[in-house]
Amino acid sequence: MPVGGVGSSLGRANSAAREALDAVRPAAARPGHGPRVFGALWPAPWRPGRATLVRGSVVIDSHAHLAMLEPAVRHEALARAHDAGVTMILVPATGREDLDAVADLAGEGDGRIVGAVGFHPHEASRCDAAWKRRVEGLLGSPGIVAVGEIGLDYHYDLSPREDQRRVLAWQLALARERGLPVVLHHREAWEDFLAALDAVPGVRGVAHSFTEGAAGVAAMVDRGLFIGISGMVTFQKGENIREAARAAPSGRLLVETDAPYLAPVPHRGKPNEPAFVRLVLEHVARTREIEAAALEAETDAAFARLFLGGR
Ligand SMILES: [Zn+2]
Repeated sequence: MPVGGVGSSLGRANSAAREALDAVRPAAARPGHGPRVFGALWPAPWRPGRATLVRGSVVIDSHAHLAMLEPAVRHEALARAHDAGVTMILVPATGREDLDAVADLAGEGDGRIVGAVGFHPHEASRCDAAWKRRVEGLLGSPGIVAVGEIGLDYHYDLSPREDQRRVLAWQLALARERGLPVVLHHREAWEDFLAALDAVPGVRGVAHSFTEGAAGVAAMVDRGLFIGISGMVTFQKGENIREAARAAPSGRLLVETDAPYLAPVPHRGKPNEPAFVRLVLEHVARTREIEAAALEAETDAAFARLFLGGR
């Protein structure tokens, strides 16, 4: 989540994008008919930890704030995600307002929506003992696969920096104790971010919506972390993101939307949604000069390894 606040409308149907996808997608991959109920969005089961990845016209959105959306808006966005071949979505929490919603969503869509619970740095000053117990309790809920999103944000400074560092340290230690990966956010806090990671070695995770370029990628990879590339990779001024997308080793790269923020070109300025992760993937594939299908397979496998206990 790059900015504070919640609530954004994804209500406008993107029929042009859907038609474009229909035109290129094999008939077998097109959505079924009949009512789009939640559990039927993704008919082929793929449960975390005990199934194989779906190959072909599929892609995973490793970071989408679906819990921030109104249910009806989310339902439509999920239908479009299904149409676009999105097979799994990780929904991170940000704090008090969406923890329970993330826990409720996790496991939906026949297990294809997974969740992360934790306190975003914006919310750090609100994370008192009672909220810590809530987070600890929710970590055992079905479909919760990570602690997140957590980190440091010195750009907005919505919580005092001391609180941010304290709550991040607590959540990193909690993740290590539970054997769970983390979803990391950092902005204009690089040195303190590295120091926080180094204080709790051995924590696995992803540095999401990464913006630090090749040297930053090396620093993350050295610490055993993965790199999440968002729709910013499509922005004209996103050369640092493209550099990161080129530098990340193939087994350590994930793609994401960070919906409802950061919509990729040509949807910039509009609400983002998981269906657009395909645009991110295609742009990263062009940047790395590989086939999109090959990148899909790589990022799917990396996601499974990090979050689903896969190899
Ligand atoms: Zn986020």
